[in-house]
Amino acid sequence: MTASRTISLRQLSISPEKLGFFRYGEVGGRMLLTNDAGEWHFLSKEDFATFLAGDLSADHAEYGALQAKSFLRDGLDIDDLASRIARKKHFVGVGPHLHIVVTTLRCNQSCRYCHASRTSMDRVDTDMSIETATQVVEQAMESTSPYINFEFQGGEPTINMPVLKHIVEYSRELNKELGKQLDHSLVTNMTWMTKENADWLMDNGILICTSLDGPEDVHNFNRLWKKEHNAFENVMKWMRYFNEGYIERGRDPQLWHVDALMTTTRKTIERYKEVIDLYVSLGIHSVHIRPLNPYGFAMGTWKAIGYTTEEYLDYYANCLDYIMELNKKGVEIVEGTSTSFLAKMLTPTDPNFVDIRSPCGAGTGQVAYNYDGKIFTCDEGRMVSAVGNDLFQIGSIGETTHEEVIQHPTVRAMAVASLNDSLPSCNTCWNKPYCGVCPLHTYQSTGEIFGQRPNSFKCKEHYTIASLLFERLANDPDGTHEKIFRKWTLTRPRETSTSCKV
Ligand code: SF4
Ligand code: SF4
Repeated sequence: MTASRTISLRQLSISPEKLGFFRYGEVGGRMLLTNDAGEWHFLSKEDFATFLAGDLSADHAEYGALQAKSFLRDGLDIDDLASRIARKKHFVGVGPHLHIVVTTLRCNQSCRYCHASRTSMDRVDTDMSIETATQVVEQAMESTSPYINFEFQGGEPTINMPVLKHIVEYSRELNKELGKQLDHSLVTNMTWMTKENADWLMDNGILICTSLDGPEDVHNFNRLWKKEHNAFENVMKWMRYFNEGYIERGRDPQLWHVDALMTTTRKTIERYKEVIDLYVSLGIHSVHIRPLNPYGFAMGTWKAIGYTTEEYLDYYANCLDYIMELNKKGVEIVEGTSTSFLAKMLTPTDPNFVDIRSPCGAGTGQVAYNYDGKIFTCDEGRMVSAVGNDLFQIGSIGETTHEEVIQHPTVRAMAVASLNDSLPSCNTCWNKPYCGVCPLHTYQSTGEIFGQRPNSFKCKEHYTIASLLFERLANDPDGTHEKIFRKWTLTRPRETSTSCKV
């Protein structure tokens, strides 16, 4: 942990009538102030004491910035502050935009950390039917969100290609009337890919995201496949095929390329530089460092491939250091979770990443539809159900309307449990404007959806990431860190809030 959580104000004098509303903490040896509009400002400890006492004079070097960011009552424009906060919370009440569809549970790989609780290739009974897919599309398109993204998950979603194609074609058909912004993304391990399917996916503008855990031995260790196959070589072959295919089709490779996700196992921790170097050598501009989650089969293999929270956070800090080093040498590579935090810290809006927002996206930002038509708060809720617990089920296709789904008592409970304005510890934490709480992760770790934030993995992860970023911003005499970070936040038109993009 790099920043202290509490600072005692008992020795300081405070003039509340002169101060705006803010939270604070010590980060990088300086006092960090944040507020609900996402504004932040660093003060020396001496200036912080003067500021609290209401003794900061109008000609003080920090006064103008503190005033502009609404940390002072003097000249505070409440309406303007309210509109800035509203902009940060633009996603509240919009309706679910991310619709995850599990086209099948079948998969021909057996990854050590599989979150999806896959079934074997002969289990055709875990394929979604065309009839169910039709109803899923009709229900998803009822969302009030003007932007809809169907994300295909599995199992390996391409094993049920007819349903995948049907969802794309039928949703586009319905959208002729509705006029929404409509995207489709596929999360695929590439083991079932064919030229015919790859060409169809490219011709139809489906966003492709695959899994790439690192160099050959790391990838093949994590992502087991039959002995006669080499999972690493296979994924590289298809990434090349897609990336060349986009260029042949005249598409801008900056916007159109295969994105990749990596999941951290014990093996990755030892080899992080090689993993990042591999991504760079493939021309991938974003590496998303992700921990194992306590869902699905990963629960059973934790002892063999898992690590402690501290080990993971040290590894994350090393990765960030290395990525910054590369950026300083002119290499264009960003880290996904940091980018999500930076977008909240350095831009006037919020990237609406469903797992790092308040309230979280469960049922209000995303909905997951299982192969059998069961509806869940999110894909992770579906994964919990796969190991026998339907707590996060919020309906069934053909039985529950879209309105009933988003008003389901579980959706309401999840919203309350992830609203960090009112959660003890979050409500006084300087990281509150940027953070997000995952009630489902808390449930898996503690057996209840509220839990105690400072004891939870997600809280430690988010607190550490925000601290690492702010430490760099606090100690940035020539502005290099901020310049790099601002570059990371530049949104490209093709980027969306899916599993591959944060
Ligand atoms: S419960 Fe967790 S996984 Fe589900 S939407 Fe919320 S943050 Fe994401
Ligand atoms: S989850 Fe932890 S880091 Fe995030 S706002 Fe709450 S207390 Fe702070």
